[in-house]
Amino acid sequence: MLENVYVLTALAAGFIACIAALIWMMHPGVPGAAKPRRYCPLCKSELAENETLKGLIVDTKPPQKILIRGCSKCAPASESGTW
Ligand SMILES: [Zn+2]
Repeated sequence: MLENVYVLTALAAGFIACIAALIWMMHPGVPGAAKPRRYCPLCKSELAENETLKGLIVDTKPPQKILIRGCSKCAPASESGTW
């Protein structure tokens, strides 16, 4: 009977540790869970959370290549396409 108590205690401790880890990971204030800051590779300005870069697909066959034209601040405005 004593072994059962030990096993149950170990299981309970593991369960509580799992829940605590989950809560810790989901907490928005945790630095590790914060979204990484993104920067335009061309002009180095910081991108908004959902801001996309403009690029041209120059090779449709794998490995696909994309020519990055810049962000909304530095990409040539004259170019149009399926950004
Ligand atoms: Zn840019």
